Amino acid sequence: MLEIHQQLKGKTAVITGGSGVLCGAMARELGRQGMKVAILNRNAENGELVAADIQKAGGEAIAVECDVLDQKSVERAERLVAQRFGGCDLLINGAGGNHPNGTTSNETLHPDHLLNENITTLFDLHTADVRSVFNLNFLGSFIPTQIFTKKMLNRKGASVINISSMSAQVPMTKVPAYSAAKAGIENFTKWLAVYLAETGIRVNAIAPGFFLTKQNERLLLDQNGGLTERAESIISHTPMKRFGRPGDLLGTLLWLADEEMSGFVTGITVPVDGGFLAYSGV
Ligand code: NAD
Repeated sequence: MLEIHQQLKGKTAVITGGSGVLCGAMARELGRQGMKVAILNRNAENGELVAADIQKAGGEAIAVECDVLDQKSVERAERLVAQRFGGCDLLINGAGGNHPNGTTSNETLHPDHLLNENITTLFDLHTADVRSVFNLNFLGSFIPTQIFTKKMLNRKGASVINISSMSAQVPMTKVPAYSAAKAGIENFTKWLAVYLAETGIRVNAIAPGFFLTKQNERLLLDQNGGLTERAESIISHTPMKRFGRPGDLLGTLLWLADEEMSGFVTGITVPVDGGFLAYSGV
């Protein structure tokens, strides 16, 4: 069990996508740390489940229905959090993910693919789907950041943590819009860290390696629950030879969130990836 960070106690964390697998684990840990936790999710019912877990464990949490791509909805959520908890100290931009419609069937193109209508190539991707994946993973962090940080300017120790991906540094095959948006998030993390530096708000990101979650299940597990070729390839490129577990992210989260531990750290992305980014594969 991780130690309790006194700096975090009584402060408020707002977590978009907080009912998801990775951010749900973050929400529960921050609740255990004594933070007031607001879970912002498109679907409030899923958020309620995580909030209930936190409350059952003796913590304070609310679930707020919020679409991170809808400015009015995020503004409403911000007002609600301010009313209930008195404002936000830590914003975690966790809502994100890929969609099968933004995915090519193959890693590389072979001219024969153009003759097979069951194969989705780059040329078959619809702009609307590309836009939707890109927007969720870029604007879906940009909009909440705009709305929440405006009200965080005078809060001592405030910070933003974005969630990047392995796809930001070197794009994963098949997911062009997701990759471009996550690269954008790492770039925006640096930009915003500089822009807000004099206000005292620190801005960092965590880049999870490969975690087996609902979002990528279809890519990583076959119908019998065995590893797909892609999953085997991931494990063989991960020196620690396993998928990440949500708990693997929590130590880094607490370090970045706690001003006493990382008060001079801003503008970085921390990979939590079992060595994936360090490994050339040979
Ligand atoms: P998840 O699908 O379990 O959770 C994503 C959450 O985002 C869900 O709760 C969903 O309801 C919410 N969401 C989606 N669109 C929304 C919208 N418009 N408004 C509000 N909420 C919305 O995913 P996860 O695996 O826990 O991923 C969390 C973050 O981590 C994502 O940004 C993802 O890209 C990133 N990530 C995941 C992995 C992995 O291996 N799972 C790896 C690297 C990065």
